[in-house]
Amino acid sequence: MIHGLSRSRRWDYSHHVVPPMTSSAAFRLDSVRRGAQGFAEFAHDTSDPHDPIYIYDRLEEPTRGMLEDNLAYAEGGETALCFASGMAAISAAVCTLVKCGEQIVAHDVLYGCTYSLFSTGLPRFGIDTRFVDLTDNDALRAAITAQARIVYFETPVNPELTLIDIAAVRSVVDDENARRNPDDRIHIIVDNTFATPHCQRPIEFGADIVCHSLTKGIGGFGADVGGAVIAPRDLYNRLLIFRKDFGGVLSPKAAWATLVYGLPSLGARMSNYQKTALHVARFLESHHRVEKVLYPGLTSFPQHDLAKHQMKDAKGRFCPGSMIYFVIGEDRNVESPAAKSPAERFVDHVAENAYAISLAVSLGQVKTLIECPFFMTHAALPEAEKRRRGVLPGASRLGCGLEDWEDIVADLQRSAGPDATQQGGSALLRNRPPLILLRI
Ligand SMILES: *Cc1c(COP(=O)(O)O)cnc(C)c1O
Repeated sequence: MIHGLSRSRRWDYSHHVVPPMTSSAAFRLDSVRRGAQGFAEFAHDTSDPHDPIYIYDRLEEPTRGMLEDNLAYAEGGETALCFASGMAAISAAVCTLVKCGEQIVAHDVLYGCTYSLFSTGLPRFGIDTRFVDLTDNDALRAAITAQARIVYFETPVNPELTLIDIAAVRSVVDDENARRNPDDRIHIIVDNTFATPHCQRPIEFGADIVCHSLTKGIGGFGADVGGAVIAPRDLYNRLLIFRKDFGGVLSPKAAWATLVYGLPSLGARMSNYQKTALHVARFLESHHRVEKVLYPGLTSFPQHDLAKHQMKDAKGRFCPGSMIYFVIGEDRNVESPAAKSPAERFVDHVAENAYAISLAVSLGQVKTLIECPFFMTHAALPEAEKRRRGVLPGASRLGCGLEDWEDIVADLQRSAGPDATQQGGSALLRNRPPLILLRI
């Protein structure tokens, strides 16, 4: 990931230590014949692979192409395509595989916008989704109808980090596909944004397609929005045409930043994030006000064995990721229901006073971010569904960054302390904690 593929069909940059950035909406074509050849070959497999004929950025573009080669390699997939955002990638992957009258089977907790796409956007085009608990193989089997074409999930699931056993889903889908003709077979799509390919490569366990929000762990710095689909070669041309016509293509400038900063630093950032995450999760577990902590790296994590099996780096070392989910206090203020709940006071205190933690959605960045999924990222899910699945108003999602873990723990300790949660945050408290002064 640090060196990347130094030479590819897209462009030979083997004399550059840092790959160059292209920025050209259109490309010079030399002759009408060469232009015609470029158009004829776009999204077609040619028997004679030669240097690509670039025509226009939205079709294919070399800097983005280099990132795509490296992403396919990182995930152990055959091909990759980059999109303007994670949602553009997810909608492209889904829409190339289903048409009007067909169905998606999805896990019943999803990233908020994916849920909104499946529950309100796609039904307008005659594509329905059956939401089921995909940790339950029998429920999955029962949900698959003759119209089903996709099984879709995240693992770890955003936000409460439930794991879905990819190989188990694969075996149910294989049984079903054995009875179908090849055109109707079901594809498994996994959103691997939370784990990143450093911690988990779903294709190894049987996923057909992997989607990413490059905005998160892979991009790593929170400076660009982007997405990717890693897919088998037989779907590549359909995805390419979808991207050309729907137009949600990743800009080469964002691709370059991901290629030069994001992917090469992924391993180093992830190993630091997860060291921090383990310290922070253990601290939270020991805190009397914290009712529940879910982090796949904790031995108390309900699916710890599956985590150890499924979440590993390329050398086989356990990689439980950077995300922690925890529940603090009761979810409403019993004396005066209109007032802030203890959990809200806690997060507001963090937002106003923390040294190392910011209240913001997103994750996988160099800065530690906290958010409340119930009110923020998962606001689109129906309340009853959220509560049933453990997405509670008192819960916070923490995405660890590169700060010293002791600083993060100090922030959480102060904000969870009795003074902070009774009074709420005070701007007067916004100063550097004694712990930091000592460290300097
Ligand atoms: C952020 C996110 C997305 C959407 O990505 P964007 O780049 O914001 O469009 C999809 N899935 C997960 C798990 C995410 O965290």
